[in-house]
Amino acid sequence: MQISGDALHQRVVRQYAEFVNPYLARLMSFAGFGVEVRAEGCHIWDHEGRQYLDFLGGYGVFSLGHRHPKVVEAVKRQMDQMPLSGKTFFCAAAGELAERLADISPGDLRFTFFSNSGTEAVEAALKFAKGATGRPHIVSTEGGYHGKTIGALSVTGREKYRKKFEPLMPGARFVPYGDTAAMELAIDDSVAAVIIETIQGEGGIHIAPSGYLAAIRRRCDAVGALMIVDEVQTGIGRTGLWFGCDHDGIRPDILTMAKALGGGIMPIGATMGTPAVWDAIFSENPLLHTSTFGGNPLACTAGIITLQVIEDEGLVERSRILGERLLAGLEGVKQRHPDLVSGVRGKGLITGIEFTMDDVGELVIAQMVKRGVVAAYTLNNRRVIRLEPALIVTEAMIDQAVDVVTEAVAETGDLIAALL
Ligand code: PMP
Repeated sequence: MQISGDALHQRVVRQYAEFVNPYLARLMSFAGFGVEVRAEGCHIWDHEGRQYLDFLGGYGVFSLGHRHPKVVEAVKRQMDQMPLSGKTFFCAAAGELAERLADISPGDLRFTFFSNSGTEAVEAALKFAKGATGRPHIVSTEGGYHGKTIGALSVTGREKYRKKFEPLMPGARFVPYGDTAAMELAIDDSVAAVIIETIQGEGGIHIAPSGYLAAIRRRCDAVGALMIVDEVQTGIGRTGLWFGCDHDGIRPDILTMAKALGGGIMPIGATMGTPAVWDAIFSENPLLHTSTFGGNPLACTAGIITLQVIEDEGLVERSRILGERLLAGLEGVKQRHPDLVSGVRGKGLITGIEFTMDDVGELVIAQMVKRGVVAAYTLNNRRVIRLEPALIVTEAMIDQAVDVVTEAVAETGDLIAALL
């Protein structure tokens, strides 16, 4: 017997409260979120059959939207043939995806280690950097986000998430993002690597200032440190080029990606490296770093088709053009509400709105959800919310989202004025 939407909602909230995480259940209920039931393209439907325009996009996962038919079809075909690797034989899909990634990635990046998530991709990157150089220190940035497993957390620049779990991996150094002098000072010959986002996603959509990444590259070369570029959120076309570091012509030693690579269908993480890094890590022992599920046929098939769809549908270029439209629309919101909106910024379809006060973004998001558009918080910045729609989003959807942001900001402003 099919249960009603309301009964489903009540049951899931109870199960979350009793068996998943009671505090999360309370937070999500307070924010008014329902149960997701179905998704297609740029839309999600909840337990009441309500349709939402998805401008959160799984924090960058749904670059092809939800359930892109070509990825669904390829993964289904692979499912019928061989879903997971037997682990003793070569896996054709892993070889193919690795070759495709070598084609589109910058500089001398040639080899790929496959895993299952962003944080795992970062773990591998940290291990490779430490192993290849034999050095103890990693330089990272305040507000930078690299994941929540112990290694990745050790280089994630927010005390709030680290404190309870200390001591973490030793050797992390933090400098303010965008401060070239501080970065250059922190990189000495005890440093294995710098790990850096080309746009801090969770940190509040901070775009690397002009010349910043190039200065890091130069300083790393000068002292023999490696440069790890974390493109878990910015990679695979999101910023209007294949990778965020392509805007500055940077050639990283190690590059991480995840989210969008699985086409919104499969979880996958990938760590790319130069021949020098791979030689240093794997020449003596090819099994020095491994993953049971990493490089599985389903995820790699999803990755291959995703890259193909992005190319066939011109989505990298589309991200650049539609990103400009979205940013122009948000600029209008800022001009209309300078009391509440202090800045809007973005590159391609990764966009942030900065508010003049902490936590206003949460109210704006609630107002947006009420109007049928979903947006995202940033985990490391209480003043910034994110819009990361699918790269297949239409002009009309962008305009709809801008209208909704306009209304949501206006209503939030009225609410705050009434409270003060
Ligand atoms: N690096 C960056 C830049 C990220 O944005 C994220 C996730 N937001 C991660 C790493 C961690 O990825 P995951 O949540 O898949 O472990």
